[in-house]
Amino acid sequence: MRGPWQVLCNALTKNQEAVNIMKKGIRKQLGDGHETLFWHDQWIQETPLKQAFPRLFRKALHPLASVASMRAGTNLEEGWEIPWSCPLRPRDQREFSALRELLKEARFSTGQPDQVTWLLHKSGTFSVNSFYLEMYQNSQTLLSEVSRKMWCGLVPFRIEIFVWLALLERINTRVKLAARNIIPSSESNCPLCSSAPEDTSHLFLHCPFARMVWVWWCGLWDLSWVWPLSLEAAYAQWSFPCKNQFFQKVWNAAFQVIIWSIWKERNSRIFTNLNSSAQEVQTMVLLRLSWWIKTWKDPFPYSSNEILRTPQCLSWQVPRKKVQTQRLPTPDKLTWVMNISPSPAQRNRVIGGALFSMNGEPWCAFSCLIPYMDDCSAETLAIHRSLQISLNNVRFRSHQIEIESHSKEAVSWCLNPGNGPWNLQFILNFIRSVGRRGLRSRIKFRSLPTFSTTDVINSLGLSRKSDTVVWMN
Ligand SMILES: [Zn+2]
Repeated sequence: MRGPWQVLCNALTKNQEAVNIMKKGIRKQLGDGHETLFWHDQWIQETPLKQAFPRLFRKALHPLASVASMRAGTNLEEGWEIPWSCPLRPRDQREFSALRELLKEARFSTGQPDQVTWLLHKSGTFSVNSFYLEMYQNSQTLLSEVSRKMWCGLVPFRIEIFVWLALLERINTRVKLAARNIIPSSESNCPLCSSAPEDTSHLFLHCPFARMVWVWWCGLWDLSWVWPLSLEAAYAQWSFPCKNQFFQKVWNAAFQVIIWSIWKERNSRIFTNLNSSAQEVQTMVLLRLSWWIKTWKDPFPYSSNEILRTPQCLSWQVPRKKVQTQRLPTPDKLTWVMNISPSPAQRNRVIGGALFSMNGEPWCAFSCLIPYMDDCSAETLAIHRSLQISLNNVRFRSHQIEIESHSKEAVSWCLNPGNGPWNLQFILNFIRSVGRRGLRSRIKFRSLPTFSTTDVINSLGLSRKSDTVVWMN
């Protein structure tokens, strides 16, 4: 295999997590057993027999034998004939009994070739999507956090790809080119400041020139920022504590636009010998933002010139649609009851909740998979999800929404500004602001829930692996 696929495959095989998923997903399905290795392939259980029975494997006379060659005859009833390199000891005999028990489950399809099946998709056929989903759900790395913020279509796709490669440190900085002997190591200094070697984190974060652009952007919003060592960590931390969803998008896009603008300036200095000042790069950041905001669906009212004159107009808020709702004379109360449970995989958790009318009739239920975290944080995410669903449904505007949580601490985090872990502040601020968004809600602690959510969620057969909302009313 040559070209880009070779590079991709090499990268995958070096990633232990990817290798583990491949091992977990691939299973040999027996036909006549001629193309399946008895000891090495996964065919009768999730692990190869050489790992399940290591003592026996060490004594196997033919470690590369096929499954078919181990059969005593053509009929399964005739059993197995496994040749050993030395006599089996009593402990080996015990392992061998267990192996014989297991082999009783083997099923052959005479005359059919063995086939490879992919267990992570119901069709049995490999798909990139199923592989990615498995990897994404299992990945606890910083990069997986970062990838959630990427690929939102806020900037042109080629720039998203460029920023992604920069986050992975896969772009050709001068340090990298010098390491490959493409340029002399004496020329590996940063073209923006000439004072340090140009690697990814220097060029985009720590270079005095790049720093002027970041400090200017943060200064527009009265923020100061302490830069972490890597670009990846910087993007993971890059968030603005505000409820304005449009500005959150602007803030996210700004990171990518600044990276791109610094890169363009760096290239212009190297390839065309043209230098722009930090102020000119800042202007380009605003111009690019103004062009790309126009491609979003939000009806942003300001022109590029207005953004250049007053960048603060980027903190514009999407006007809320006025929806005529018929208010009921006596508003009913609806109650959300949270439900947190560990997933079988133990690497994730599942949060859920059900919404009940006053007489206990279920109206709605949701379920979604989140990364593994403590009970309180999971409970907070569940409260957040229930409020999101309530806010997105106009019918609720006439109802009082009560949220019952059996985590006293999570309720305290939600109700008191300043409480709760820093990494959940964004979510907690959203929870605290729903009143201003037009939802009449109250979050309260209740050790024994008024209604049971488990039955509702189970009775609907909700998939607990994906984000699901089911309406019953
Ligand atoms: Zn520099």
